[in-house]
Amino acid sequence: MKDVVILGATGSVGSNTLAVIRDHPESFRPVGLVAGRGGDKLEALAREFPDAAIALGREADAAGFAERLRHAGGRGRFFAGPDGALELLAGIKADICVAAVSGTAGMDLAFAAAARGMRILLANKEVLVSAGRLFMDAARAGGSSVFPLDSEHTALWQCLEGKKAEEVEKLIITASGGPFRLWPAERLAQATPADALKHPVWRMGEKISIDSATLANKALELIEAHHLFGLTFDAMEALVHPQSAVHGLVEFVDGSILAHMGICDMRQPIAHMLFHPDRRRNKLPRMDLARIGRLDFEKPDCARFPLLPLGVEAGRRGGKYPALFNAANETAVELFLAGRLSFPGIADTVAAVMEKGEKGECASLDEVLDAHRRARRLTLEHARAV
Ligand code: MG
Repeated sequence: MKDVVILGATGSVGSNTLAVIRDHPESFRPVGLVAGRGGDKLEALAREFPDAAIALGREADAAGFAERLRHAGGRGRFFAGPDGALELLAGIKADICVAAVSGTAGMDLAFAAAARGMRILLANKEVLVSAGRLFMDAARAGGSSVFPLDSEHTALWQCLEGKKAEEVEKLIITASGGPFRLWPAERLAQATPADALKHPVWRMGEKISIDSATLANKALELIEAHHLFGLTFDAMEALVHPQSAVHGLVEFVDGSILAHMGICDMRQPIAHMLFHPDRRRNKLPRMDLARIGRLDFEKPDCARFPLLPLGVEAGRRGGKYPALFNAANETAVELFLAGRLSFPGIADTVAAVMEKGEKGECASLDEVLDAHRRARRLTLEHARAV
């Protein structure tokens, strides 16, 4: 039996993790659940897993919500307030931590988990993108192992397993192409948040859905892959693959390519990483290859989706640039969702902020968070000016 802490228990990855745990109660037990907000979902979880400790980030009436949890049968410890999740992490023992609080908010939580000597299943992208080297060092120092929890990276992980680094020539991750794959450039200027949230394949949170529409998500994933697998940006690429059947490919020095295929359902990579190194039978739907019929691959259109090359360039430059790209993009996406930037305006704004970048490494998480704050301010200023 493995004890599991879930950071972001009511979000998309957290809910999928709990779905896998429900299917394998003999193998996993949730001992800590962290959520941003209270609400019915969290109350239901307290009813279902009464012994789990619960931490709540933003709740105006923490005492009232604690009472609700007790009423629902929750017997676990309850932590509230901005440091509640950190206190929970410090106060319980677990084998596995699913780090699925997205955005900047999830970064110090992931670092705190890394210091606790756990298997970390990392779904938060910001950690590796903005603080990749620092985080991998922190995990090593804390005796934690880092496993990616993203369909592309778990795909690459499986293709690379047991292979020697010197035999690997190139990594390829796939992109569905998002809802605007076939939209001409002129029409993109009119794209609304509702259009951009209509992801063709995956059901995900708002931020990542917009990142899929702009292809910024692929840039973030290439930077993550760089830290997870140690390849240079010349040895990695993203290809658009509308069927989303193949999630990642590895080309070896002899020209052989191994590809990983799987259904578009996060429960599959989550189950894989929870059970790793074992494979366990599950009840997930199987791929119907004959029904998929064909597999198409195409080069991404960097003119219509400039955030992809911009993000890769940030990764190549390294230092503070990935943090700047990441935070500028996060802020620009918020502005787009609020109707204050057009769809092409997201990339224009991020490009303008990148121009104001500076060389130098971030030596600590505080410096990364500083770089984030600066990028956020520059993004808001730029958006106000145009
Ligand atoms: Mg992905």
